[in-house]
Amino acid sequence: MTKRRLEALRTEMTKCTRCSLCKMVPMPTVKDAKYANACPPVITNHFHAYSGGGLQVMALSLIDGRIDVDDDLARVAFACTTCGLCDVSCKFIMEAERQDVILALREHIVAQGHGPDVHRAAADRLRGTGYSNGPPPADASNWAAGLDLKSLPEERADVLLYTGASVYEDPRHATQARKLAELMLAAGLDVGILDREPDVGIDAFWTAHRGVLETQAAHVCDVLDASGVSTIVVPSGSHLGLLRAHYPRYARAPRAKVVHASELLDDLLRRGRLSLPEPIERSVTYHDPCYLGRQSEPPQSWEGEEKMTHGVLTYFDPPKPINNGVNGVYDPPRRVLDRIRGLRRTEMHRIREYSFCCGGGGGVPEAHPEVARTAAESRIEEAEDVGAEAIVTACRYCATNLERWQPGGAMPVFDLIDLVYEAAGLQGRAT
Ligand code: SF4
Ligand code: SF4
Repeated sequence: MTKRRLEALRTEMTKCTRCSLCKMVPMPTVKDAKYANACPPVITNHFHAYSGGGLQVMALSLIDGRIDVDDDLARVAFACTTCGLCDVSCKFIMEAERQDVILALREHIVAQGHGPDVHRAAADRLRGTGYSNGPPPADASNWAAGLDLKSLPEERADVLLYTGASVYEDPRHATQARKLAELMLAAGLDVGILDREPDVGIDAFWTAHRGVLETQAAHVCDVLDASGVSTIVVPSGSHLGLLRAHYPRYARAPRAKVVHASELLDDLLRRGRLSLPEPIERSVTYHDPCYLGRQSEPPQSWEGEEKMTHGVLTYFDPPKPINNGVNGVYDPPRRVLDRIRGLRRTEMHRIREYSFCCGGGGGVPEAHPEVARTAAESRIEEAEDVGAEAIVTACRYCATNLERWQPGGAMPVFDLIDLVYEAAGLQGRAT
C-alpha cells in the first residue's frame, strides 16, 4: 500500500532537474547571502541526498528497484524536519509536490520496519494509550482550576480551547493555555475545555506512522465534533497545520472551524473586545512556525488526468492547483505584535512562506538532535543579526527547540500569548 502511494507520485519525482534551488531561499526574498540556506539537514551534513531534491531522486531509485529500503536510507530520510521549505522553493520555478514525496517515502520506510526506534516507541505509546508520551496524570485539568470554563461535552459553549494534550507534558504549556483562556474570558467569549483531551497525534504524523495517525485523527474529530462548538482554538502552530491542512488527507477535518490563537487574538483586538494598555519596551523579531505558515494550507481537490506529450513530457489536464505556502497564517501574529505599545519588531531574512525551520519538528529533535541544533543556532544568529533582543513565535515546538540549544538564554524566546497577556495587563495571574 505505501509502495503504491509512493509509485503514484512518480511524475513528481521525475520532474526534479537537480538544480538545487530547494537548498536555498529564492534570491528575491533574501537580503543577505548568509541566510540563503534553506534546509537544516543539508547545512548539517553537506550532502545533496539530505535535500528535498535528493529525497526525490532516492524515492525514484527505490520504486525503480535501484536501491532498497535500509537503515542508511532511513537515517537520511528522517533527518528531514518536514518543514516544507524545499517544497515552496522548488515551486518558485516549477509545479511539483516535493513534500508529498518526502512524506510518502518516510511512510514506506516505516512500513518496511525501518526508521528511528525512538519514533516507533512514541507511535507504540500513542497506539496503546492514546498519548504519545503516555497517559496524562489524574489531575490533568488542574491547569484550568478556578477559571470560568465550561466542561465539554456535558455543558455547552461556543468555543473550545483545545491544547492538543500538550498541557499534560510541560508546565509552561499549561501556563500558556491558562493565559490564553484568561484572555478569551476577558474578551467575553463563552469558552469550554475537554476534561481529558485526546492527543492530537502530531508525533505519528511527523514520524510517518500513518495507520496510527489515521486512527487517532478520526478519534480526535469524533471528540471535537461531540463537543458541539462552532469554533476550536489551538495555541500551537504545529497543531493548527496538522488539523487544518493534514487531517483532511489522513481522516477528515473537524466540523467546527479551527483557528490559531494568533488569528483569534487578532480578531478580538480588531473588534475592540480586547485591549493592550501595558507597554512592553523590547526589540523583537517574529519567527514564522512552518506549520502555522506554509504548512497550514488545506488540500485542494482536483479531478483530471495525467497525460504525456512528445513521448517524455507528462502533464496534468486540467492543471493541478498547487499550494505554495502564500496563504498560510503570517499577518495575524504580526498585526497582534504591532498593536503592543513600545514593542519594536524587525523582520529576519527568511520569513513567511520562506521562513527557516527552527529544527523542532519532524521528530528530528528526538532522532537527529545535531540537525535540530544546527537549525536553532542558525535561526538565533539570524535574529541577533537583525538586532532583535528576543524571538517571538507562536508554536510550542519552535519555542522549545530554540531555547534548548542556548542554555544561557542569551536570546529569550516568547510565545505570542505571553506578550499579549502581559500587554493586556493580566501578568502575574496565570502562574
Ligand atoms: S527538488 Fe526542485 S528545486 Fe530541488 S533540485 Fe529538484 S527541481 Fe531543483
Ligand atoms: S522539508 Fe525542510 S528539512 Fe526536509 S528536505 Fe525539505 S527543506 Fe530540508
